[in-house]
Amino acid sequence: MKYKIKIIIDKIVSFFLPRTCFCCGVDLKNKTLLCEKCFKKVEFVKGMLCQRCGVPLKSGGKYCYNCRGSKASKYKCSFIRSALQFNEPTRALVHAFKYEKYLNIAPYFAEVMYRTYRKYPEYREADFLVPVPIYKSRQRKRGFNQAEVLAKHLGKICGTPVLNALVRTKNTESQTKLPREQRKENVLGAFALAKGVEVKGQAFILIDDVCTTSATLEECARVLKEAGAREVLALTALRE
Ligand SMILES: [Zn+2]
Ligand SMILES: [Zn+2]
Repeated sequence: MKYKIKIIIDKIVSFFLPRTCFCCGVDLKNKTLLCEKCFKKVEFVKGMLCQRCGVPLKSGGKYCYNCRGSKASKYKCSFIRSALQFNEPTRALVHAFKYEKYLNIAPYFAEVMYRTYRKYPEYREADFLVPVPIYKSRQRKRGFNQAEVLAKHLGKICGTPVLNALVRTKNTESQTKLPREQRKENVLGAFALAKGVEVKGQAFILIDDVCTTSATLEECARVLKEAGAREVLALTALRE
């Protein structure tokens, strides 16, 4: 009986899985997410990274321009790392996951995020993974919050529980087309602590799909810190 159910599930899964590459659209022999050529372009974020925000540093040093000197200590989110670089194939995967609801992409992202998690002892002290929330009407429309899906898969691998500690109180404009300064303004006051959640003295890892200017992560961290969180770190699947 169990076997039968498995076959049915496999059939359903393979029915929904495209047999073409999510990025370039070529036909695939195996049920992979991308063709070999596109998979080769998928790269981990590597090299010299800013010690706080994890942005790759072209000319060395410890911090990027935005985190240098006294600036580093003013941030509420003390540590950000991302698994993969944002490029054509990884953007295609995030797009298919978020907007075309290919949820089978999430375990892949969680796996690469776990590799990044393992690299940094900073993450091991955290008590909870906190997904960056999306506005409730948007979540209702999409059917899920992509950050929460990633957090749940990652939590299963790394053993850190997921806590929906934040809610989005403002349905903000999409950040993608906004310049750096406007992104900060756009998310200002967009988050609040979820009802009945106690964060005092706890350490958290914010989870999201993409990190661009880290304005969203910083605003989430500010809310948690103001409510008494001990430390707020962040981990995202992609770095733009
Ligand atoms: Zn391809
Ligand atoms: Zn930095």
